[in-house]
Amino acid sequence: FLPHLVASLEQVEETYIMVKPDGVQRGLVGEIISRFEKKGFKLTGLKLFQCPKELAEEHYKDLSSKSFFPNLIEYITSGPVICMAWEGVGVVASARKLIGSTNPLQAEPGTIRGDLAVQTGRNVVHGSDSPENGKREIALWFKEGEICQWTPAQAPWLRE
Ligand code: GDP
Ligand code: MG
Repeated sequence: FLPHLVASLEQVEETYIMVKPDGVQRGLVGEIISRFEKKGFKLTGLKLFQCPKELAEEHYKDLSSKSFFPNLIEYITSGPVICMAWEGVGVVASARKLIGSTNPLQAEPGTIRGDLAVQTGRNVVHGSDSPENGKREIALWFKEGEICQWTPAQAPWLRE
């Protein structure tokens, strides 16, 4: 039963990462993508996209009762975003660590928000909070055919 246990611990996950409109406007797209790229995760989807209001509302539906919800929807639809799908073992939690706390002033230096942002309402990047939401959000933001399955040349140099 041991190999089975190890296999289940090393489940490949997918996460939805998005550079929010402030990150695009501030010229941080390359910097943010490169943090995930350098870490060793696999990019499977990428596009520049103007988000319609209905999609922003669906994406953030769990927050619809919050007082900041209208501001959040206005923020996310205020300009183009970069939509990304990333894949890897442990990618969901690891991406959240690379991104840092929701409030950039509390985010650790070295994290994206800790290094590049100052306010919760302008925190430059989104990352899914669970493997289930990773799947849900990728299905929401990408059409069929926009996700690419491929094997990076570096794969054997990242995992034994
Ligand atoms: P995340 O998972 O770290 O992005 O945080 P949440 O899921 O709690 O919130 C989603 C997004 O809503 C955050 O990234 C912020 O852009 C925004 N947000 C959350 N809390 C606040 C708040 O108190 N004020 C404002 N203006 N925006 C907030
Ligand atoms: Mg969240």
